[in-house]
Amino acid sequence: MNPRIVVLGAGFGGLELSTVLSEALGDHLDLTLIDKNDSFFFGFSKFDVMFGHKTPDAIRLSYSNIVKSGVRFRQETITSIDPETRRVTTNNGTYEADVLVVALGADYDLAATPGLSEGGNEFYSFAGAERLREVLPTFSKGRAIVGVTSAPFKCPPAPSEAALLLHDYLTTRGVRDACEISLVIPFGAPIPPSPATSKALVAAFAERGITFLPNRRVRALDPARRVAILDDEREMPYDLFLGIPKHRVPDVVAASGMAENGWIPVNPKNLKTRFPGVYAVGDVTSVGTAKAGTFSEGAARVVAASLLAEVQGGEQPPAYAGAGTCYVEFGGGRVGRVDVDFLSGPSPTGSFIEPSVALVGEKQHFGSSRRARWFGL
Ligand SMILES: Cc1cc2nc3c(=O)[nH]c(=O)nc-3n(C[C@H](O)[C@H](O)[C@H](O)COP(=O)(O)OP(=O)(O)OC[C@H]3O[C@@H](n4cnc5c(N)ncnc54)[C@H](O)[C@@H]3O)c2cc1C
Repeated sequence: MNPRIVVLGAGFGGLELSTVLSEALGDHLDLTLIDKNDSFFFGFSKFDVMFGHKTPDAIRLSYSNIVKSGVRFRQETITSIDPETRRVTTNNGTYEADVLVVALGADYDLAATPGLSEGGNEFYSFAGAERLREVLPTFSKGRAIVGVTSAPFKCPPAPSEAALLLHDYLTTRGVRDACEISLVIPFGAPIPPSPATSKALVAAFAERGITFLPNRRVRALDPARRVAILDDEREMPYDLFLGIPKHRVPDVVAASGMAENGWIPVNPKNLKTRFPGVYAVGDVTSVGTAKAGTFSEGAARVVAASLLAEVQGGEQPPAYAGAGTCYVEFGGGRVGRVDVDFLSGPSPTGSFIEPSVALVGEKQHFGSSRRARWFGL
C-alpha cells in the first residue's frame, strides 16, 4: 500500500515536496497538503505590495489552482501535532500519517519588542506590507529606520533590500533630500557568508547616503518619544520605523514538543527529526542554513528523493548541501545574485554576481517557473 504522506504547510517547502512526489508517482501517491491560508505569495512580493508596485491581489497565488495527481489540498488550521503517533488534528478533522513532513515556516512575535506594534511597522507579514502601502505615501520628511529586532530572521538580504528600495521610492517622489535612512542589523556585514555581496551592499548604502549600523539590533521602541532603543542602549529618533520582528515557530509546533531551543532540530543530511517517520524542512528547523525559500525548497527536494528511494527501491540521495540562490534588489532597477552553500564545507561560502538588469529577468523567471510548476499558471 502507498504510504500516507501528510505535509503540514504549503509554502516553499510543502509545495516543492508535493510537486516532486506528484511528478514522480502520479496516482500512486497518497499525499495530503494542509495550509490555513487560501493562497501563497512569494516573500519578495511583499516589496511590490508595500512600495505600491503591485496590488495584493496581483501577487496572490490561490491554492485552488493546485491540481496534481495524488495530492489533496486542504485549507484547514492545524491545531495539534503528535509526532510520536504522527497524528495531526485540524479545525476540521484528524489525519493519520505514515510519513509526516512539517513545513510550517516561521511566525512573528511582535510582542517580544516593546513598542513595535504601537509605534512601528513591520513588512515581513503580508498584512504588515499591506498596511505600509498606506503609510509610506504619508512619509515625506524625517528619519526612517529599517531595523532588525532579533536573529535568526528570514531572508538575510531583505532588510538591506528594503533600505535600498526605500531610497528609490523616496527619490521617485522627490522627497529623498528631506529624509534620512538608517539600517540596523545584528550581523557584522549584510550577508555574512558572502563578503563580496556584503561589500557591494555597503558600497551601495554609502553611494545613497544610507547610514549602516552593523552588529546592533533594535531592542525596543518608545512610541511616545519616537525613539528606537538599540541593544547597547543607544537611542535613535525616528519618524518611520520599518521593523523585522522576532521570529519563532508557530504555536502548534511549540505545543507539539518537537522544538528545542526555539526550532525543530533535524539531521542536516536527510531532514529527519528524532521521531520515526517525521521530517521537518525549511524555516521551522534549525538545520543550519539561513531561513529563505530557496533553502526550504532544496530541503524538500532531498526529502522527496529519499521517500522516492524508499517507495521505488532506489538509492538514497546525497546529503542535503544547504545550498541556494538569492536574488538581491539593489534598487535602480538592478538585481544582484548570491549563491550560498551552508553545509557542504567546514563553513558557509557564498559567491556574488554583480547587480544587472539581466538578473531582474532571472529573478522573474525564478518566480514564474515556480508559479508554473506549483500552480500550473
Ligand atoms: C520581505 C521578504 C523577502 C523575501 N525574499 C526572499 C527571496 O528573495 N528568496 C527566498 O528564497 N526567500 C525569501 N524570503 C523568505 C521566504 O519567504 C521564506 O523563507 C520561505 O517562505 C520559507 O519557506 P517554508 O516552506 O519554510 O515556510 P513558509 O513558506 O512560510 O510556509 C509555511 C506555511 O505554513 C502555514 N502554516 C503555519 N502555521 C499553520 C497552521 N497552524 N495551520 C496550517 N497552516 C499553517 C503558513 O500559512 C504557510 O503557508 C523573503 C521573506 C520576506 C519576509
